[in-house]
Amino acid sequence: MGERFDIVVIGAGPGGFRAARRCAQRGASVAVIEKEFVGGTCLNWGCIPSKTLLASAHLLLQARQVSEMGVDIASATPNWAKIQQRRETIVGLLRKGMMGSAKAPRLTYIEGTAVVTAPGKITVQTNGQQRQLEADKLILATGSQPIQIPSIPFDGKTVISSKEALELPTIPRSMVVVGGGVIGCEMACAYAAFGTKVTVVEALERIIPMEDAWVSRLLEREFKNMGIEVMTGQKVTGVDKSSAPAKVNLASGQSLDAEKVLVSVGRRASVDKQIVETLKLEMNGPAIKVNAKLETNVPGVYALGDVVGTTYLAHGATAEAEVAAANATGGNEEMLDYALVPRVIFTFPEIASVGASEEKCQAEGRDISVGKGFYKANGRSVAHNETFGQMHAVRDKAMNEIVGITMVGAMATEFVAFARTLIGTVEPIRNITFPHPTVSETLEDALHEALGELLLEQ
Ligand SMILES: Cc1cc2nc3c(=O)[nH]c(=O)nc-3n(C[C@H](O)[C@H](O)[C@H](O)COP(=O)(O)OP(=O)(O)OC[C@H]3O[C@@H](n4cnc5c(N)ncnc54)[C@H](O)[C@@H]3O)c2cc1C
Repeated sequence: MGERFDIVVIGAGPGGFRAARRCAQRGASVAVIEKEFVGGTCLNWGCIPSKTLLASAHLLLQARQVSEMGVDIASATPNWAKIQQRRETIVGLLRKGMMGSAKAPRLTYIEGTAVVTAPGKITVQTNGQQRQLEADKLILATGSQPIQIPSIPFDGKTVISSKEALELPTIPRSMVVVGGGVIGCEMACAYAAFGTKVTVVEALERIIPMEDAWVSRLLEREFKNMGIEVMTGQKVTGVDKSSAPAKVNLASGQSLDAEKVLVSVGRRASVDKQIVETLKLEMNGPAIKVNAKLETNVPGVYALGDVVGTTYLAHGATAEAEVAAANATGGNEEMLDYALVPRVIFTFPEIASVGASEEKCQAEGRDISVGKGFYKANGRSVAHNETFGQMHAVRDKAMNEIVGITMVGAMATEFVAFARTLIGTVEPIRNITFPHPTVSETLEDALHEALGELLLEQ
């Protein structure tokens, strides 16, 4: 007989770790198994290291503009060794913090690769040793991996994924980013600020195609100012690595020089084939199929986070973890509307949205009014010399409710949780006092206009 637990969680990324802690807090005995590092992609190769690089890059850009604000500094250049060292230190510190919170009553953290050998039976392999576990319930949170383009496979040196892009030994002179989605655009911003000549090649007609077209337009305008070239409606057909720099060939016949080719065309659920076959799990394309309770077709087996292919966001994974953990411990909860999981992009400028977009409302034939707030009209933004950006609020006229908010500009990602609380609200925005002078007044302007309450110039 193996060691018995009420619940075994496979994967200690943000989703699995949150689910394990919540189940333990709700009284279950829980084992969480992780084959690499606690924190998963998010902490080790995703959210945190990318934001660490972006923070240095952002400071560098600001430092180059400080003379406009009456501050003279001699020069601002990246110290790559220190930037990389800082990234490693931050990831290490946060890992330590997470491991500290794994020392909770009823929670057992196990290092190793989990294999499900039969329903309720799990073998953990660590350094040639095996540990047998038994569990009444199973939560699968095994994450995702970058999608590879067959004609330009990753080689880890020239053709790289975001994982290598975060840890490059030197700042490359040139980089072609294949894919103008979230990760590609974030990395483009970071490296452009560090001095790399960046070209983003996107097959669709615009970068960040999941947001409204005005968002892509603003971002492209700012990319131009940063010296990032954007080529849309273009496909990469191959990479010729016979000389340095490599040549990136496009379907149009053009070719681009690139010391590094970052392929960022999305991520795919990381599904262990053996687990799927042993449990006879139903799939939804490459992802594990779950219902609104995050339960798979096998009763008592839950899945969440990137492995179910819903949001591909860390906070999407933790939101699902809360639901799965509640259900695995006797609750009866369902995942709320996915449109209410805020979408965040840490480009320069930042992008954040929640609820329905303008284009989605229009496609559904909803009668809407859109209110806009402008950073350039906002006192704090002007004082801070950060005047680029807009906030849009969408009201469904029939329901007379705010149904969506999209923001492009400084700190947009920090406002979106608050913006979420306004979705579906019927409370007059006049009842909320926005402190002055704050960037949040830009959102106030957008909301007033959407609700037909804008103070007009006399
Ligand atoms: C460059 C980059 C930047 C990102 N930035 C953001 C951001 O700013 N904001 C945001 O919300 N999201 C961001 N993401 C996405 C975010 O990282 C993921 O959505 C999130 O990590 C998903 O969490 P998860 O728990 O589902 O899976 P993961 O974090 O991938 O964790 C899964 C874990 O399972 C483990 N595992 C897999 N199989 C087994 C097994 N058989 N046995 C034991 N362990 C196993 C893996 O080792 C891994 O640690 C970013 C991603 C990338 C790549």
